[in-house]
Amino acid sequence: MTDAAPAASPAAPATSDEVAIEIRRMNKWYGQFHVLRDIDLTVMRGERIVICGPSGSGKSTLIRCINRLEEHQTGTIIVDGTELNSSLRNIDKVRSEVGMVFQHFNLFPHLTVLENCTLAPIWVRKIPRREAEETAMHFLRKVRIPEQADKYPGQLSGGQQQRVAIARSLCMRPRIMLFDEPTSALDPEMIKEVLDTMIELAEEGMTMLVVTHEMGFAQAVANRVIFMDQGQIVEQNEPGEFFRNPRSERTKLFLSQIL
Ligand code: ADP
Ligand code: MG
Repeated sequence: MTDAAPAASPAAPATSDEVAIEIRRMNKWYGQFHVLRDIDLTVMRGERIVICGPSGSGKSTLIRCINRLEEHQTGTIIVDGTELNSSLRNIDKVRSEVGMVFQHFNLFPHLTVLENCTLAPIWVRKIPRREAEETAMHFLRKVRIPEQADKYPGQLSGGQQQRVAIARSLCMRPRIMLFDEPTSALDPEMIKEVLDTMIELAEEGMTMLVVTHEMGFAQAVANRVIFMDQGQIVEQNEPGEFFRNPRSERTKLFLSQIL
């Protein structure tokens, strides 16, 4: 938790009547360990959801199941109308519609910023190189680092690397963006620049699921906050109510520790 609370409030509507993600009675185990328990979650197009909860509660596992970096065992996950299951043939299609930004950026260190942004569009989406480069520059301008295009990730600050990671995701033209603690590895002075980039995305109506403990971001941007503990969704509410009137004791305890 930092005081890098963004001031802006997105103009985008809270919800639409189109379902982006539908999760029903979903369970996942790692071996014997029951990591996600009866998860029910419907995300409408344009929603901005913040997921919080103690370390080990299953937040990363949940969002990794949504782009099938992890497989669930029971229940259903439907993303943009496609059910994620073992007979799914076109996993690349789902992955290109669902962008993911990680805590540790996960850029390719031996590729330039521009090459990081064009790799998947060229090889997965089969977009011509020139066009992929134009798109990459468009999104690098959007995250305000076009001048870094020819540098390598190691030459950039953490905040710049994370903005490259966001631009790289956007180059695949995703309809949904997942963020897993995108600012947790950043020095405090770099947190705001990454949050500001995410706020702009929200204002443009991107459907976003964000695992974060940046409660200022949650207050300003989320239309719904979800609290997870021990593999379950314990409580969810719009941010005002969530912070003012947490219902469960577990949520109260968690908030008392981070706020
Ligand atoms: P969070 O993101 O909320 O901290 P995670 O989803 O990373 O939680 O982890 C939830 C639980 O699952 C933790 O107890 C963690 O140790 C365990 N876990 C995570 N990944 C694996 C894995 N690949 N194999 C076995 N256990 C795992
Ligand atoms: Mg995690």
